[in-house]
Amino acid sequence: TETGNSKESKDYNLEKDCELRFEIESKSQIKVELKSGFAELYGTELVKSKKYTFYQGAKVAIFTYQGCVINISGSPDVCYIARETPMIQYLNTHSAIEQMRVNAEERETCGPKVMIVGPTDVGKSTLCKILLNYAVRLGHRPILSDLDVGQGNISIPGTIASLLIERPASIEEGFFSQLAPLVIHYGHKTPDFNNELYKICISTLADITLERLNEDKRTLSSGIIINTCGWVKGQGYQHLLHAAKEFKVDVILVLDQERLYNELLRDVDAGCKVVFLPKSGGVVERSQQTRAESRDQRIREYFYGVPLRSPLYPHSIDIKFSDLKLYKIGAPVLPDSCMPLGMKATDNMTKLWPIQPGPSLIHHVLALSFAENPEQDVLKKNVIGFVCVTNVDVERQTITVLSPQPRPLPNVVLLLSELQFIDSH
Ligand code: ADP
Repeated sequence: TETGNSKESKDYNLEKDCELRFEIESKSQIKVELKSGFAELYGTELVKSKKYTFYQGAKVAIFTYQGCVINISGSPDVCYIARETPMIQYLNTHSAIEQMRVNAEERETCGPKVMIVGPTDVGKSTLCKILLNYAVRLGHRPILSDLDVGQGNISIPGTIASLLIERPASIEEGFFSQLAPLVIHYGHKTPDFNNELYKICISTLADITLERLNEDKRTLSSGIIINTCGWVKGQGYQHLLHAAKEFKVDVILVLDQERLYNELLRDVDAGCKVVFLPKSGGVVERSQQTRAESRDQRIREYFYGVPLRSPLYPHSIDIKFSDLKLYKIGAPVLPDSCMPLGMKATDNMTKLWPIQPGPSLIHHVLALSFAENPEQDVLKKNVIGFVCVTNVDVERQTITVLSPQPRPLPNVVLLLSELQFIDSH
C-alpha cells in the first residue's frame, strides 16, 4: 500500500474504512496532502491538494470512508495504516444523535444532550470532536461543554467551559469561534483538590449553558456534546452522575470501560440512554509530563496565540495593591470542631477569602470575574478572561500582569488560580 517517492516524501494508498496514523515526537514538522479521494481528520474534511503542516506533539489519524491517496513529506516518528477502527460505530452513533436533532427541530424542542465518559486516554475529546464536526457539517450549531479541568481544551487549564460550535474544526488548529466561550473558574488541575467547588462549578456551567441553548432556535435543536475528565471512580463517578443530572443529559456514551457502563446503566434515570463504545486502537497514552507540557502550552497560547500561524501580542500592565480586589475560593479544611457553631468544615471550601497581595503571587494566573458583588455571586458567574502575574514590587506596592487587554478593567474581582505560567518572552 505504500509507494515510495523520495525518502522524505511518500504516498500512502488507503482503502476504504482505513486510517493513516502518525505521531511527531521530535522537533520536526511534516506536511500532509490529500492527492485523490476523500479523507477526514477527526471529522473535518481535508481539502484536496492543500498542504497541511503538523508540529511536534501531533497525534493524528486521517480516516477515509471511500479510499484515498495521502502524501506525507517529512519523517514522522510513527506512521502506519490501520484497518481496524471504530469509526463505523462512531458514525452510527452520530446517525442516532442526528435523528434526535431532526425530531427536536420538528417539534421545536431541545436537541440531544450527549455526555462522553471513560477513563483517561480513551479518545473522549477526539470522539467529541468527530461528533461535533459531523453535526456542523449538516448545518447544526451545537454547544461543546468541557468539564476536564486538567487540560482546559476550550479555555485554559483550571477552568470548565462551553463553546458554541459554528463550523468544523480547522485541520491545524482545532475549534475556534468568533464568539467568546462561557468559562467557569475552578482554579486547580484536578477535581479532587476541591470536590465541593468542582460540583458547584458544574452546576453553574450547566445553568448558563442551558440558558444559552435556549437563546437560539438552531442551537436549541442541535443540543450539547459534553466532554468529561478521566476520573471515573469514587467521587469522580459521583461528579459524572451530578453532571448528567445538571445538564439533563439524554445519552451517555461510555468509551472502553464495561464496569463504568454497567454502573451507569444501574444509576442513571430511565430516560437517559447509556451506550457502550470501543476505543480506537490508535489513541495514544500521554505521560504526566506530556500533560503538564500541554497545560503550559494552553496557557501560553491564551496569551501569545500560535507563533507564525496566529500570534497574539499581550500587554504588560501595572496594578496598585490598593486597587486589587483579589480573592481565592476555598481554604484548607479544618476539623469540624474548629469551625464556628453551625458551620461545616466543607463550607470553607466554597467560601471566598480575600488575599493580601505579596511575592507569592508571582507567576499565578488570575481570573477576571463578571461578579459585581464578590461575596454574593462569584460562584454563579462566568469569567471575562485571565491575566498572569509577572512581577510583584513590594516597595512600589504594585503587581505587573500579562494581559490580553491593554488596560486593566476597573474594579473587577480577581480570583487566584493555583495554575502558574512562567512568561519567558
Ligand atoms: P481522552 O480525551 O480520552 O483523554 P483524547 O481524545 O485526547 O483522549 O486522545 C488522546 C490522544 O490520542 C490525542 O492526542 C489524540 O489526538 C490521539 N488519538 C485519538 N484517536 C486517535 C487515532 N485513531 N489514531 C491516532 N491517534 C489518536
